[in-house]
Amino acid sequence: ALEQGRKARSLQGVVIALTVILALLLSALALHQRRTTLRMRSLAMTDELTGVPNRRAVLARLEPLLAQSDKSPCALLIIDIDHFKQINDRHGHPEGDEALKLVAAKLRLAVAAPSFIGRLGGEEFVAVLPDTSLQRAGEIAESVRAQVMTIDTRRWLAERRITVSVGVTASVSAGDSSSTMLRRADAALYEAKRGGRNCVRFMPPPQAAASAEE
Ligand code: GH3
Ligand code: MG
Ligand code: MG
Repeated sequence: ALEQGRKARSLQGVVIALTVILALLLSALALHQRRTTLRMRSLAMTDELTGVPNRRAVLARLEPLLAQSDKSPCALLIIDIDHFKQINDRHGHPEGDEALKLVAAKLRLAVAAPSFIGRLGGEEFVAVLPDTSLQRAGEIAESVRAQVMTIDTRRWLAERRITVSVGVTASVSAGDSSSTMLRRADAALYEAKRGGRNCVRFMPPPQAAASAEE
């Protein structure tokens, strides 16, 4: 009976040890799974070339800001590199990629948190400026434009600097969506291109435009 008791106790010890090992293995697996999920999510939200948030990520952050924009206006800039195709045509796509990375780095410098930038696609970037008036957004757009002009372009363009055109808008207190804001900023950007590029143009939210007309 004594011998049997000893055997039972040692078997119990083995079962406890195995349970602990199994629990540790399961926790390690869960941790690994969670890290993988976070990494995948971050990859899905990041522009591979420049490392800034991609279009999907920007829209995901903009929508909730607009949902509460009755409290404070939110401004948006679309920033498009001027005559970017020239760099690709003259020096090839990889050099164009380098230029895009430098522009993204300058935009990061010019736009401070909680505001953020992202890449809409191609040579087009966006800046979302929470709690920012149209006038203040214009000042930030000017500093973005000035920052980009500090890029050393000698390896690509002997005769000119890299410049950007910027379209600016601000949110309407109700009924604005990311697509209506992007459309207004895009219309402003079109005016900036038409106005000779390397400049900032505005498309105010509808009710501000209406009160300005009164
Ligand atoms: P504009 O001043 O009117 O904006 O002229 P632009 O040349 O900048 O505009 P356009 O739309 O004619 O050309 C944009 C170019 O951007 C064409 C396309 O090949 C290039 N491009 C888009 N995405 C990338 C990219 O990821 N890498 C590189 N290297 N080029 C890109
Ligand atoms: Mg362009
Ligand atoms: Mg463009």
